[in-house]
Amino acid sequence: MARYDFDLITIGAGSGGVRASRLSAQMGAKVAIIEESRVGGTCVIRGCVPKKLLVYGAHFAEELEDAKGFGWTVPKPDFSWGQLVANKNREIDRLNGVYINLLKTAGVRLIEGRAALADAHSLAVGGKTFTAEHILIATGSRPHLPTIPGVDFAISSNEALDLMEQPHRIVIIGGGYIAVEFAGIFGALGSEVTVVVRGERLLRGFDEDCVEALALEMGKRGMGLRLGRIPVKIEKEDNAYTTFLDDGSELHSDLVMCATGRHPNTQGLNLPALGIETTPTGSIAVDEYSATSVPGIYAIGDVTDRMNLTPVAIAEGAAFARTVFGKEPTAVDYTNVPTAVFGQPPLAGVGLTEADARASHGAIDVYVSRFRPMKHTLSGRDERTLMKLIADRRTQRILGCHMMGPDAPEIIQGMAIALKCGATKAEFDATIGIHPTAAEEFVTMRIPEPDRK
Ligand code: NDP
Repeated sequence: MARYDFDLITIGAGSGGVRASRLSAQMGAKVAIIEESRVGGTCVIRGCVPKKLLVYGAHFAEELEDAKGFGWTVPKPDFSWGQLVANKNREIDRLNGVYINLLKTAGVRLIEGRAALADAHSLAVGGKTFTAEHILIATGSRPHLPTIPGVDFAISSNEALDLMEQPHRIVIIGGGYIAVEFAGIFGALGSEVTVVVRGERLLRGFDEDCVEALALEMGKRGMGLRLGRIPVKIEKEDNAYTTFLDDGSELHSDLVMCATGRHPNTQGLNLPALGIETTPTGSIAVDEYSATSVPGIYAIGDVTDRMNLTPVAIAEGAAFARTVFGKEPTAVDYTNVPTAVFGQPPLAGVGLTEADARASHGAIDVYVSRFRPMKHTLSGRDERTLMKLIADRRTQRILGCHMMGPDAPEIIQGMAIALKCGATKAEFDATIGIHPTAAEEFVTMRIPEPDRK
């Protein structure tokens, strides 16, 4: 008789957990996955996918305006927030079904409920105990709201995706991915948006020129930015909210949303009792193979707070399966991971920012191109794109590639392959562009910016 019920039990059926479970099963392991909510996790159910559908929906507002310059007569368009959310929900239901089927087809048993670890090889779910040789924790993260009076009046991205009505005026607290993306969604749809950022700029960690250019474009679209301000209190009266800032000013709105980061989902797992080490931020500490401090227990994805992106969690899940069931120790390479913020317009980048490249490589060449997208010569829209290449002056290797403007995420994905291959500036120069595109700028930039510190 087998020593354990399963070879692997995964806790959490998000992107990383599902990939790890399916791959492990394909490698011959007997696998179960435990999920307390809907299969698909944050990305599919309440993150990347529904957000992107709303981003598409919002962008039509601009497209309809821009069409006039191309000879279209567009009657005053009518938009239904309720219809967009309902259609989005239908697609999320479909994807939830696809994910359930993927597990079924791979032979992974789905156990519904909330898991608590009992020891290194067993866990409890709803009064039942299951055992496994290996346990993989892939429980993800949840929105973290600041501890200020009245914060309970604020929603997080979870609720923002399912609002019954579009707010006329919204205050968004935070200056990261989620704040910028939802500012773009609501702003494009005509809500009055104010983003409150505690730092001096949006999107800490992204290339400064791109972030500045984005802030400018957001301003042109009427979105308000309150930089260097900390919210201290939120009050609600009837359906009106007042957000008090640290400079004594007040912001009035119909909704307040916090996009102030996410925290790892570790509560109730029983980590301390098992001696599973956590980091000072409460995430699960793991080695390069995603092994925790307790043999047999692994963790991947947001709960480990390494690089909180869906494709990274998927890569960690795949590496885990290869390491444990493929007998091929595999560590994820976290260098040159491209990332994008689906704002209006979007911003994307891969490799080092100018500041980081300067700090780590000293002498660098920076190439910048700022231009009005060709489409807007006829649409008349006042919008500029910014593209940027950063090369190591000594080796001429491209260290970073960044863009703010339409299609930036689609373009940067291709550039990421070049960086992964270690491409040099000469190789970019030797690449023939596709004309006329914005992307061709990346292979036609010839004159570096004058040296700046
Ligand atoms: P981020 O970590 O990107 O940004 C959090 C923002 O909130 C920062 O501006 C931060 O300021 C600010 N903040 C934190 N605490 C407070 C506070 N107490 N008061 C005021 N401001 C505060 O988190 P998000 O919530 O935007 O997104 C969470 C994660 O989800 C991201 O890190 C990303 O990994 C992932 N994500 C990825 C997306 C994508 O790939 N397109 C899309 C959406 C999310 P400061 O910078 O000063 O710390």
